[in-house]
Amino acid sequence: MKKTGFTTIALNVPFAKQDPHKALQMPLYESVAYEFDSAEQIEANFRGEYIAHVYSRTTSPTVEYFELKLKALTQSSGVLAVSSGMAAITNTILAITKTGDNIISGNRLFGHSYALLQNTLSEFGLETRFSDLNSEEAIENRIDENTRAIYFETVTNPQLDIADIEMLSRVAKKHGLVLVADSTITPPNVFNGGKFGVTIEVMSTTKYISGGATSFGGAIVDHGNFDWNRNPNTASYTEKFKANAFLMKVRKNVYRNTGGSMAPQTARYQIQGLDILELRVEKCYQNCLALGEFMKAHPRIKTVRYPGLETDERYPLAQKYFNGVPGTIMSFELESKAACYSFMNKLQIIRRATNLNDNKSLIIHPHSTIYAEFTEEERLAAGINDRMMRLSVGIENVGDIIADIEAALQ
Ligand code: PLP
Repeated sequence: MKKTGFTTIALNVPFAKQDPHKALQMPLYESVAYEFDSAEQIEANFRGEYIAHVYSRTTSPTVEYFELKLKALTQSSGVLAVSSGMAAITNTILAITKTGDNIISGNRLFGHSYALLQNTLSEFGLETRFSDLNSEEAIENRIDENTRAIYFETVTNPQLDIADIEMLSRVAKKHGLVLVADSTITPPNVFNGGKFGVTIEVMSTTKYISGGATSFGGAIVDHGNFDWNRNPNTASYTEKFKANAFLMKVRKNVYRNTGGSMAPQTARYQIQGLDILELRVEKCYQNCLALGEFMKAHPRIKTVRYPGLETDERYPLAQKYFNGVPGTIMSFELESKAACYSFMNKLQIIRRATNLNDNKSLIIHPHSTIYAEFTEEERLAAGINDRMMRLSVGIENVGDIIADIEAALQ
């Protein structure tokens, strides 16, 4: 029977090999290495003629099952699981660029992604040309013969801007560029990048997909819509690996050699996380809507941002790209930094912590934390002021969260 619902698919992805005990849960394979029956069989494996797990830094059964499940849920052509969201981003960029190349990126990015591009990769001769991604002209002006990719976040964290993904896809196609989306904030039950021309999605599975802050992980999702001959850094992989050229380059030339594999225990948690993802996102979303209405009406709250609210200027884009669910992060402003601190210190249910999409609601003051290493000029350019807080909405009873906020505002 055809399975159409997200959770139905999640619960019914077959294992790569049937379990000898017919276990309903994917067992946790903690083994580092796997044995072969003969020297000839190992040789055949190393020649690529006999496919089997060899050494768990490269592949392992529990991680493979997580990849298969995410592949089914993203309707993509391939998935690689890695050790963190940052590893997913790094592996992807290293595979499609080399010294002397450049990429175009939005100037509003998760802080460590910005630091990776601005500070780390620039030391290896990769230039990032930051641009206002809302302006097609600005992007076009930055592209030259060494440009390899456009990199963006589906919903920026913490500004909650939504990219015009179809425009980015059009520009990327025209110039033969890889369109890379960090879709961490908009998980696969609300966003499918392949439908809008995204080539590669990178995700921090630490967030929603871990099932609620259980473990660190990342995923690279290839939507199979790019001709890898158009990128000079992947072209040599196309003859042998055809449509899988990119993921095979990542596997063979980046991920394996830099050592950022996902741990089997992590995969075990995250397999479970995928099973309950849709339920959790729906609950967080309903909480966001109720919280948004409450906050908009509160006299001490100056501005509220959640693109899932009909009154938000980004609501039409949230409808178009995310079925109306632009993740479940909100931001709001009080009158001053001191007011934010006083408010945060009085909270009893919402936790003061730097993470997203836990089951618990989490709050942070981005200006003094995630953006602490930025100059004031950089913060302002990134849309961060010291009156703003980011709230990652959890699955608690919404009446309790509202009561917590109301009491802390007094
Ligand atoms: N991308 C976004 C949008 C994030 O918010 C984060 C972390 O908060 C990351 C990437 C990095 O993920 P990880 O902490 O799993 O490396």
